[in-house]
Amino acid sequence: MISVSSVAKIPGRRTSRADLHLHSTRSDGAYSPSQLVDLARRSSLAAVALTDHDTLSGLAEAQAAAGTSLEVVPGVEITSEYHTRELHLLGYFVRPDNIPLVTALGRLCVHRNQRFWRMVDRLRGLGVSLADEEVRACAVTESLGRRHLADLLVRTHRAGSVREAFSRYLADLSLVPKLRLPVREAIALVVGAGGVAAWAHPSYDCTRKTLSELRLLGLQAVEVEYAGMRPSRIHELRCWARELGLAVTGGSDCHGPEPLHRSVGSCSISSAELDELRGMARSPWPASRVVVVPPCAALVPAEE
Ligand SMILES: [Zn+2]
Ligand SMILES: [Zn+2]
Repeated sequence: MISVSSVAKIPGRRTSRADLHLHSTRSDGAYSPSQLVDLARRSSLAAVALTDHDTLSGLAEAQAAAGTSLEVVPGVEITSEYHTRELHLLGYFVRPDNIPLVTALGRLCVHRNQRFWRMVDRLRGLGVSLADEEVRACAVTESLGRRHLADLLVRTHRAGSVREAFSRYLADLSLVPKLRLPVREAIALVVGAGGVAAWAHPSYDCTRKTLSELRLLGLQAVEVEYAGMRPSRIHELRCWARELGLAVTGGSDCHGPEPLHRSVGSCSISSAELDELRGMARSPWPASRVVVVPPCAALVPAEE
């Protein structure tokens, strides 16, 4: 976790914008859930969604930090698969006490933990000597990924930056298989938990046909406001969404202070667009009702 005190307050009135794609220390982000809420307030956002990878565990902290000053939409980004490729499925307004969803996320996190240690073995095989204690000290969340190993390599001066850690050591580790839920299953879980299923950062080869196929599988929304997306592409995705009856979403996908163009609030949607998503949710979880999500390890015992 890092300090946010150096981030200047952006002057002006609170806007009615919502950043619906944020990662905290509960997955591979650098800010804690409360720090993200603090940054969202400084950016004058009216609402945020915490969308950690495969976990809802940061929701209670974010909601408690927000109080009534800011809406925190319960969210999650589920690792899924469509036509053999990874697809990140966002779930908004999901009920955090929905057992099938929490159990499936638990399964993904248990697998992430196993994969993490498999990657540690691979790094050791490459000659990087990592003591079990230092690895355990960096495995601070249930939703582990390559980013945690990158941070460890930087902290222990084996790499000068996260970018170098990835290019020198971690790029090949993407080949260590990851558990990905079939997208149909991930969509059904989100919808079953009362939420709205949205496709995060659709790939550049996504066509109207792809969106229409996913809509048939139950997809309800598509992320159109995303850092680095060309204006012409945003326009195209918005047109397809309208034609196909999909709602739109957007957010910064902030993972920390770097890169700057993905800082909290750098991408957002309007309150009317947020209301449309809310209207699609079957039982939107009231922002004032905080629930503590049990850690997944308690739900799903790790396999041997
Ligand atoms: Zn991430
Ligand atoms: Zn993301």
